[in-house]
Amino acid sequence: MIESPLLPKLTGYIGGRWSESPDGNTFDVYNPATGEVVASVASMSESEVQQAVEAGKSALRLTSPYTIETRRKWLEDIRDALKANKEEVGRILCMEHGKPLKEAQGEVDYAAGFFDYCSKHIQALDAHTLTEKPKDCTWTVHYRPIGVAGLITPWNFPIGMIAKKLSAALAAGCPSVIKPASETPLTMIALFTLMDKHVDLPDGMVNLVMGKASVIGKVLCEHPDVPMLSFTGSTEVGRKLIVDTADQVKKLALELGGNAPYIVFDDADLDAAADNLIANKFRGGGQTCVCANRIFVHEKVVEEFGQKLADRVNRMTVGDGLTEDVDLGPLINKAGFDKVKRHVEDALEKGGQLVAGKKPSDLGEGHLFFPPTVISGITPDMCCSREETFGPLVPMATFRSEEEVIEAGNDTEFGLASYVFTGDAERAQRVAAGLRFGHCGWNTGTGPTPEAPFGGMKASGIGREGGLEGLFEFVEAQTVPRGF
Ligand code: NAP
Repeated sequence: MIESPLLPKLTGYIGGRWSESPDGNTFDVYNPATGEVVASVASMSESEVQQAVEAGKSALRLTSPYTIETRRKWLEDIRDALKANKEEVGRILCMEHGKPLKEAQGEVDYAAGFFDYCSKHIQALDAHTLTEKPKDCTWTVHYRPIGVAGLITPWNFPIGMIAKKLSAALAAGCPSVIKPASETPLTMIALFTLMDKHVDLPDGMVNLVMGKASVIGKVLCEHPDVPMLSFTGSTEVGRKLIVDTADQVKKLALELGGNAPYIVFDDADLDAAADNLIANKFRGGGQTCVCANRIFVHEKVVEEFGQKLADRVNRMTVGDGLTEDVDLGPLINKAGFDKVKRHVEDALEKGGQLVAGKKPSDLGEGHLFFPPTVISGITPDMCCSREETFGPLVPMATFRSEEEVIEAGNDTEFGLASYVFTGDAERAQRVAAGLRFGHCGWNTGTGPTPEAPFGGMKASGIGREGGLEGLFEFVEAQTVPRGF
């Protein structure tokens, strides 16, 4: 069992107080590296979720909103608390997610960056005036908090994903009801411990509910006092939320699945392309929405590039994230492991060649450690071309021309992240403009930052997180005559 000063309670948090589940229901949290139960946390029922919404409603101030100075201080205090407790929050994160400790602690810094960004740009949410020339009258535009927001997060970035949502919600003055993924609720409890101790938030401004997604999701979708849901997770669940909130025409911010193309032209710096691919692909064990999922390499350089990848992959260590110098932790659960295995089996059966990694029959049983794997000869009919693998598989396909690779890159319902490696700046601009993806990196595999708007096109989502666009997600513009 995990012991931590940041986990004094393993319960929800409603109206400024830790909140047990009255019927005593709990669910177990596992360490994916060892298979051991590390904690049992409260599983809340419908009535607690409703209480959390009511608590949020009582914290909402529409007629005299929290001032910008008050909101900025909340954001700064959360940023500072995260930075001061980075090691311990990272250790908890590592134990429930499995990613290497340094990477987990880096995620805490990343999360703090979103609170920092919002604190420094919150002034943009101040009211402004405009003049209607023909009638010579002036108007004031106010950015009103939309109301109590439901924030639902996935397990792959247990602190990073909530930071993006909560920083913008608090900047807007919106109370929230937060539901973490059931695989990784402990990092969220640690965040609530820090907010409880170090941040002077009104009771009900932040509420934590954990337990069955169907129960919590139903209340958040149906409750008339929750006008907005911000969700990060699979496209499948995102689609369900669209349907379930349609009657009330709720605002949705959806950060959904990806199927990122990573395009390497024959004029690219192949070492840089390989280094960036390793950093991008194996972050979080390959379980990130921005991970390269389809690697397109120009046919002239595919062998050389494959060799460079194999050299790097063969030096990587896989193991418990708490162990020093581990590059790659376990996958999150058996379903995740089985999916990657299925993709490898399918690719090899359909003619792919193993460049690095193990054959599925040599993987062994009873653990979640999947070796980094490179396969060449990938074709569009293979599962790894159509679906998000969410694991450490690098599937390489070849291409001959710019037009062909733009078409192949876009041949997916998803549109989140994409990457192009070429020494030709004009070509990079043409390819980026042709790719229907919310993010396109040129000669870099890095992903979202607090400063830049990030989000999906097509079935990868609606809305943006980060940047000024993200700051405006939780407000509604109201135009009134000047002086109101
Ligand atoms: P998921 O299964 O969709 O779950 C995400 C969250 O939604 C979890 O908290 C889950 O709760 C909850 N949930 C499930 N069913 C629900 C329902 N009917 N109503 C309300 N909430 C519900 O996704 P995941 O497996 O955790 O995350 C992986 C996916 O997230 C990948 O597709 C990845 O690409 C995507 N992702 C996207 C971004 C982005 O920025 N676009 C970032 C990170 C991840 P339980 O855990 O209790 O089931």
